[in-house]
Amino acid sequence: MFLENLLGRTETRCSICGKTSPLITSTLAVCADCIRARPSEALPLIMPVHAETRRKFYLPVEPPRAADGVHCPICTNECVIGEGEYGFCGLRTNESGRLVHLAGKPSAGLLSWYYDPLPTNCVADWVCEGHHQRGYKNLAVFYEACSFNLSFAHFLHRNLSFAHFLHRK
Ligand code: SF4
Ligand SMILES: [Zn+2]
Repeated sequence: MFLENLLGRTETRCSICGKTSPLITSTLAVCADCIRARPSEALPLIMPVHAETRRKFYLPVEPPRAADGVHCPICTNECVIGEGEYGFCGLRTNESGRLVHLAGKPSAGLLSWYYDPLPTNCVADWVCEGHHQRGYKNLAVFYEACSFNLSFAHFLHRNLSFAHFLHRK
């Protein structure tokens, strides 16, 4: 639920504790305190939202566990991918019972890049020489695949072009 405070900033009410704050995303409508301290109440509210964001990028909502699928041992998701399905990362598929790597292999990778004005929002900015080079740009390069469950920030950029990659197939 959106509210307007005296400064004209949009606030959202937490669906669990009722607190309002401009720091609560309207997409989830659950505050950070409740996500941390009341996961049994928060997860049923936020996981459907997360699932929807993955579907938008043609990514499986959960690591697949197809009964007759092929096993991918590359990461801890240990996907078992059915014929024509994708692994959780979206980079592996099952073609005729064979595990096929679409990218992220020695001959092909999926990368995206952009010029990031300095100082950047990079986590290493505070120790980077670029922190003192305002006016210049950093070349930010990203691998476009993730076997974790990250869908936001830089990863939105990554997922957008990744979705285009899958859509081209
Ligand atoms: S997420 Fe990708 S790399 Fe990890 S097990 Fe699944 S298919 Fe393999
Ligand atoms: Zn709350």
